[in-house]
Amino acid sequence: MKTSSKCLCGAVELEIELSNTEIAACHCSMCRKWSGGPMLAIDSGELKSISNESLVTRYPSSEWAERGFCSQCGTHLFYFLKPANQYHFPIGLLDTDSNFTMTHQIFIDEKPDYYGFSNETENMTGAEVFALFAGDEQPK
Ligand SMILES: [Zn+2]
Ligand SMILES: [Zn+2]
Repeated sequence: MKTSSKCLCGAVELEIELSNTEIAACHCSMCRKWSGGPMLAIDSGELKSISNESLVTRYPSSEWAERGFCSQCGTHLFYFLKPANQYHFPIGLLDTDSNFTMTHQIFIDEKPDYYGFSNETENMTGAEVFALFAGDEQPK
């Protein structure tokens, strides 16, 4: 399923090929600081094209990941997990009316008590997420 997505100011447009409609919430402290709350993302997208790439800042938030945003309006465009060569896209960025389902929550052990989702999901702690990845790469 192909979807196109624009940042808030419209300068950056992404074409994304989605392979499913599953959404994950990440409660880790870095995602919450970056997003102002838990990050809701679709993690099965392929970035087909990106316009005005010179306006995209790729902030290296760790040795293994980059967080991309529009330099003009600050819209979050992607989380890029370098070892997996994988883009995760914030769900609010996508201009599509597909029926998405929140299927899992990660870093559930870092979720603060002041909010909680009522969705029925598979929940993983940070340690369980790390265990999924080879070596000691940390996917935050
Ligand atoms: Zn923008
Ligand atoms: Zn996170």
